[in-house]
Amino acid sequence: MIHKVTLIPGDGIGPEVINATVRVLEATGVKFEWETHQAGADAYAKTKQYIPKELYESVERTRLGLKGPVTTPIAGGFASINVTLRKKFELFANFRPIRNLPNIKTNYPGIDLVIVRENTEGEYSGIEHEVVPGVVESLKIITEKASTRIARFAFDYARRDHRKKIHAIHKANIMKLTDGLFLRCCRDTAEIYPDIQYAEHIVDNTCMQLVTNPYQYDVMVMENLYGDIISDLCAGFVGGLGLVPGANLGHECAIFEAVHGSAPDIAGKDLANPTAVMQSAVLMLRHIGETAAAERMHAALQRVYSEGKKTTRDIGGKSGTSEFADAVIQALETSKEPAGAGR
Ligand code: ATP
Repeated sequence: MIHKVTLIPGDGIGPEVINATVRVLEATGVKFEWETHQAGADAYAKTKQYIPKELYESVERTRLGLKGPVTTPIAGGFASINVTLRKKFELFANFRPIRNLPNIKTNYPGIDLVIVRENTEGEYSGIEHEVVPGVVESLKIITEKASTRIARFAFDYARRDHRKKIHAIHKANIMKLTDGLFLRCCRDTAEIYPDIQYAEHIVDNTCMQLVTNPYQYDVMVMENLYGDIISDLCAGFVGGLGLVPGANLGHECAIFEAVHGSAPDIAGKDLANPTAVMQSAVLMLRHIGETAAAERMHAALQRVYSEGKKTTRDIGGKSGTSEFADAVIQALETSKEPAGAGR
């Protein structure tokens, strides 16, 4: 079987980490047909569209995407490509597992938690306007439908993956209506899943709890902005943004991308760590049912980190993006050999 995938290389470090990941995916032996499309400023320069219609059509066809980061201009400019795609294809769940890799020294060994972030509304609704000069307004939209949908996703996932506990993260003491509704939907959903423990933490306290005892968390569900911030915080537990994968999941479509952004400071220098996108690709392989290839790619990554000789600079190594990819491919290929071969 050949899997058709819409490939969005992105910009900044995007093309480097995507290229490295595609090389590893092809080395797994799974057959892919890549439909490559640009988005963001690069796409605009060529097509006068930030998301060309061919990209939309491709995702509608393939229902599957692998995406590099696309730079979002700060305070002005075009709307975030990531946010636009998530809304357009109803990729309502952002799934971010946080786990340590072998040999990465951090103050927090043994982390194993999952962030489930609502992906379509909250402060990311993008409804902002100037009331009068000097006064602006931004609307935080929370709906019962989207809140219940993400709560159910989190509980279903917890049950499927034998997770024990879900924390709903909120600020309902201040945002009584919006976060209040989000929380009510989580509580109502929790009643349908008595086998999963349920607790609630206020987001500011959560930050303090995370840095003092992250081990109390298992699955955390939260609205969009809190999910964005808490994900970066948790990436710090396991060695940084270069390592943490992500999946944007809807009922009919999925786009896999790293938690990190386009990191323009290191773009084009073969310095970026492609692990985050590679780990996102492992999630993609599982999603499309290529479980054996997923496990092999996961094992190859673990092996390169266990050996610790070919890691990138963000985590104290000396290798570049492509050398790291070569090492993962080599680990994949040696795992194919029968026991004892090559000794
Ligand atoms: P965004 O707002 O677009 O999500 P961000 O604020 O999360 O972006 P990033 O662009 O992800 O910021 O990166 C922050 C810093 O982390 C970068 O400047 C870079 O030094 C480092 N970084 C991020 N991703 C990687 C990576 N894959 N490899 C190495 N370093 C990285």
